[in-house]
Amino acid sequence: MKIVCPSCSYVGESKAIARGSRKIELALWCCCLLPGMVYTMWRQSREGQYEGCPNCREANVRTLKRKDWKIYERHGRLPAS
Ligand SMILES: [Zn+2]
Repeated sequence: MKIVCPSCSYVGESKAIARGSRKIELALWCCCLLPGMVYTMWRQSREGQYEGCPNCREANVRTLKRKDWKIYERHGRLPAS
């Protein structure tokens, strides 16, 4: 899906970003195996991911409508909203 990022003004395809953090995941794996496994599975599942900005991982992005994206492709800028 096409998005506009309010924090770094990225425009383009969004990316599925895993929630939580890699550090916690590793810590859980080191301390106890089972929670680490559950945490990893959660991050790889649909619930553990969000569509966000591939640049700065911003989750609160605006989705672009097909029409708006066409305008952006043609003119290189977004229509004033
Ligand atoms: Zn961004």
